[in-house]
Amino acid sequence: MTRVFHRHLRSTPPVAVSAAGMRIYDAAGRSYLDASGGAAVSSLGHGHPDVIAAMHAQIDRLPYAHTSFFTSETAERLADELIRTAPEGMSHVYLVSGGSEAVESALKMARQYFVEIGQPQRTHFIARRQSYHGNTLGALAVGGNEWRRAPFAPILVAATHLAPCYPYREQRADETPEQYGLRLAAELDAAIVAQGADSVIAFVAETVGGATAGVLTPVPGYFKAVREVCDKHGVLLILDEVMCGMGRTGTLYASEQEDVVPDLVTIAKGLGGGYQPIGAVLAQRKIVDAMSKGSGFFQHGHTYLGHPVACAAALAVQNVIHRDGLLEKVRADGRALGAMLRVALGGHPNVGDIRGRGFFWGIELVADRASKRPFAPALKVNATIKKDAMARGLLCYPFGGTVDGVHGDHVLLAPPFIASREDLQEITRLLTASIDAVTQAASV
Ligand code: PLP
Repeated sequence: MTRVFHRHLRSTPPVAVSAAGMRIYDAAGRSYLDASGGAAVSSLGHGHPDVIAAMHAQIDRLPYAHTSFFTSETAERLADELIRTAPEGMSHVYLVSGGSEAVESALKMARQYFVEIGQPQRTHFIARRQSYHGNTLGALAVGGNEWRRAPFAPILVAATHLAPCYPYREQRADETPEQYGLRLAAELDAAIVAQGADSVIAFVAETVGGATAGVLTPVPGYFKAVREVCDKHGVLLILDEVMCGMGRTGTLYASEQEDVVPDLVTIAKGLGGGYQPIGAVLAQRKIVDAMSKGSGFFQHGHTYLGHPVACAAALAVQNVIHRDGLLEKVRADGRALGAMLRVALGGHPNVGDIRGRGFFWGIELVADRASKRPFAPALKVNATIKKDAMARGLLCYPFGGTVDGVHGDHVLLAPPFIASREDLQEITRLLTASIDAVTQAASV
């Protein structure tokens, strides 16, 4: 046992000692092909020389300066770069240390915006089931896993959870994808009215549902209709792109593919590519203006806001993505990965759905394809696949097990953008072997 407080207190994971490119190596000399970038973090793979050089240069020059005294050139350059490539109308960037902090900051920004413009009665959030927004109390409150919230429920801010956009299971046979999207937007409309339209702060959603949803890609028109409903009631739209943003789906923001502009968007994970802990909130001008003309400050803060070394890493990651044409690569190779997965697993009796965009794919596993019946949670199919895949030298990100609306088990793939076609073939081969072995054992 180690003295590091792991999430699972009764087991100790292997000790990682080094990493390079697509691989991580452990203390026992085993090598793992990284098909999930950790949890969709390592967008440039491991040990990228340009990012490491940028961090070294920053540490030599200015390792840290507290934001109550200073901003830094590097933080300003990163913010300029993020605004240059941001969804329309974003004017400022709030730089934090990770995804939960970004979501927490966005929730507080949204609330303070309404206080500043004289609508302090707005106290309620609306979000979706099967979402994950982080583990701090605000982020947990809007997160869509009831079991995760349960121990903390009495101390969470008020939030209502609606259905996610999950066509594989929830689109009706008599409706088109577009009609399904409009139905969900109408449910949001009804929920806002039921809550009292002038008491809702924001609708919070992952643009593409990630870890706890098995990559839920929205149907066409869903987010446009959601945006219209929010506008009708003066409710803000917060898109959480902590996992799906920063190029993961083949565009820098997944919202670009929905042709929708949020009021606040959160990013993290791929922003720093795992080289440093960093996250950010991008805010529309009207939100920043309300604060600057009102109280004059955002009632929030953390010691490591805009940490110069984290900003240097994130800036280098951004530069490499654009210089090396990685968004185009992710779009083209993402289509190839989707095709490989469909060839290998499309006819598998225990694969119900294969869905994704870019380098962000989910494979939903079922005990029976025709009825879409999930495996019994007690079989722990997702956890067993994780273990089996690691034994084969593959890192993938399984989740699920039929807990409060998570219909069954799925595996998430989010490889580094540098993955070659051969890497993608190898990922598909190893994952297929693992799914074969584990589902066969679970089916007897
Ligand atoms: N939001 C989304 C969509 C996430 O996927 C995650 C992490 O998985 C978070 C927020 C929380 O980020 P962090 O773990 O960096 O606090």
